[in-house]
Amino acid sequence: MKKIGIPRAISYYNNYPFYFGFFNKLGIEIILSDKTTTKTINDGCKYVVSDTCLPIKVYVGHLCNLLDKGCDTIFVPSIQSTGFKINNCSKIRGLPEIIRNIINKPFKMIEPTLDKTEGIGFYDFWYSVANDFEIYDKKLIKSAINEGWKIYNDFHNMTLKGVSYNKALKAALKRKPIEHNDDIIKPLSVVIMGHGYNLFDERISLNIIKKLEKMDVKVFTSLNVTPKEALESIKELGEVQYWANELELTGTSAYYMLKGEIDGIIALSAFGCGPDSLMVDEIAHHCKKAEVPLIHLTIDEQTGEAGFITRLEAFVDMLLRKKRNILTKKPIKIKEYIQNKNIDNIKKEKILAS
Ligand code: SF4
Repeated sequence: MKKIGIPRAISYYNNYPFYFGFFNKLGIEIILSDKTTTKTINDGCKYVVSDTCLPIKVYVGHLCNLLDKGCDTIFVPSIQSTGFKINNCSKIRGLPEIIRNIINKPFKMIEPTLDKTEGIGFYDFWYSVANDFEIYDKKLIKSAINEGWKIYNDFHNMTLKGVSYNKALKAALKRKPIEHNDDIIKPLSVVIMGHGYNLFDERISLNIIKKLEKMDVKVFTSLNVTPKEALESIKELGEVQYWANELELTGTSAYYMLKGEIDGIIALSAFGCGPDSLMVDEIAHHCKKAEVPLIHLTIDEQTGEAGFITRLEAFVDMLLRKKRNILTKKPIKIKEYIQNKNIDNIKKEKILAS
C-alpha cells in the first residue's frame, strides 16, 4: 500500500480533516508523527538556526520523528499565496527548501505548490500530489478532493457551533458529526488570536485553552468564525488582508471585538514571527480605541509554564475586576452595560459572586 507521512505541525492543525479524506479516498495510508513533546522541540532545534520561529523548529522535529518511524515519503507543501497577493511568510513558502537544506537523509518529499498569485490553484496543488503517487485518473482525484472537503466541512461546522477542536476532529474522522451541548455560561469571554499550529498543539500552547477554561473563562478561536465573517470584519475595521493567516488572527479578533461580546483578547504568537508582530500591532491599535484589553504572549522553546500561568492569571483577574467594577461601582451604567454587552442575569450573578 502507498504511504505518506504527515508531520503533526503547521498545516496539520487546520487542514488534517481534508488531508484525511483526500488520501484515504486515493488509497494512500497516512502515517502521522507523534504528538509534540519536549524531545520533538529539541530534535527540531538541532537542525535550524536559533532565531527560527518555534513552529518551524517543531515542524522539523516532527519530520525527524517520521524518519525515525521509517517513513520514506513525507508531505512538505509550499503554500506561497492563498489568494491574489495574499501571502504566507517566507518560512512557510520555502518549507521544502528549508527541509532539503537541513535534513541530510534519504526520503522523498511530496512538495506541491499553492500560489494563487501566480495562477497555481487548489486543483493544480492536489492533482500534483496525486500524480506524485502515479495516480492520473482525474475522476478519482476529483472525488478524493470532494471527500476531503466533506470531512473538512463536517469538522468546521462542528467547531462553528462550539464543539471543541479535539472532539470535532475525532468526530469528523469517524464521520459521525456531533452536536454541541455543553454551553455553560461563564463570567468572562476572551478570544485567542493565534495560528492553529500554535493554539491547538497542546505542548506549544502550554494548554492555554484548558487553563483558561479552568479559570472559568469562555474561549473563542478562529474555528468559531467563518472565513467570510473574518474577512468582512477586517474590512469593517478599515484594514486589508495581506497575510494568508490574517483571517485566523486579525479577522477573528476583529469579528469578536466588533460584536462587543468579549472581555479581552489574548494574542499568542511565536517569538520572532514577523507577520504576527504586524497583525498584533494592528489589532492592539483598534483595541485601544475600542477599550478592549489585550495581552500579547510570545512563546519559544524556553517558555516556562510558571511565568506563562502567572501572566494569564493576572490578565484574567484584571478582566474580572474591570467587569465587576462596571457592575457594582457605576450602578447608573449597569443597564446600559447589560444592554450593550448583551449580558444576561446568570452571567451578571456569576461575575458579582466571583
Ligand atoms: S507565520 Fe510566523 S510563526 Fe508561522 S511559520 Fe511564519 S514566522 Fe513562523
